[in-house]
Amino acid sequence: MAYSYDPQNIFARILRGEIPNKTVVETAHTLVFHDIRPHAPVHVLAIPKGAYVNLDHFAAEASAEEIVDFHRTVAKVIADLGLAGETGYRGITNAGRDGMQEVPHYHLHILGGRLMGRLIDPA
Ligand code: 5GP
Repeated sequence: MAYSYDPQNIFARILRGEIPNKTVVETAHTLVFHDIRPHAPVHVLAIPKGAYVNLDHFAAEASAEEIVDFHRTVAKVIADLGLAGETGYRGITNAGRDGMQEVPHYHLHILGGRLMGRLIDPA
């Protein structure tokens, strides 16, 4: 699928430093920061620095280096936030209309610190 990327989306602006964020960790290819409207005691967003719209765009077109950096950084954040192992967490990514994606730059929500409930709202 050929996606077009909107360089004015809010996460692109965060990456350019035009909007502040509460950074958890930053690497060569990845930024992890706190969600502005947290849905759990821990709610962070992991984003690649590259211009990818969603998970399938990133998975199909990012370089191996970007993909490894992203996932290794996510693993480190999960450990550093105390969510690894038995404690657990929920990882969510929304895409497009049906996924009700609000910001068109790929992001992985990492939520934890409470029992997360069932997988999806049946509505
Ligand atoms: P989506 O619905 O696209 O999966 O989630 C977008 C997320 O981005 C939401 O959870 C929303 O709270 C978060 N968000 C939107 N604007 C900002 C912002 O300016 N700063 C931060 N840190 N999070 C934002």
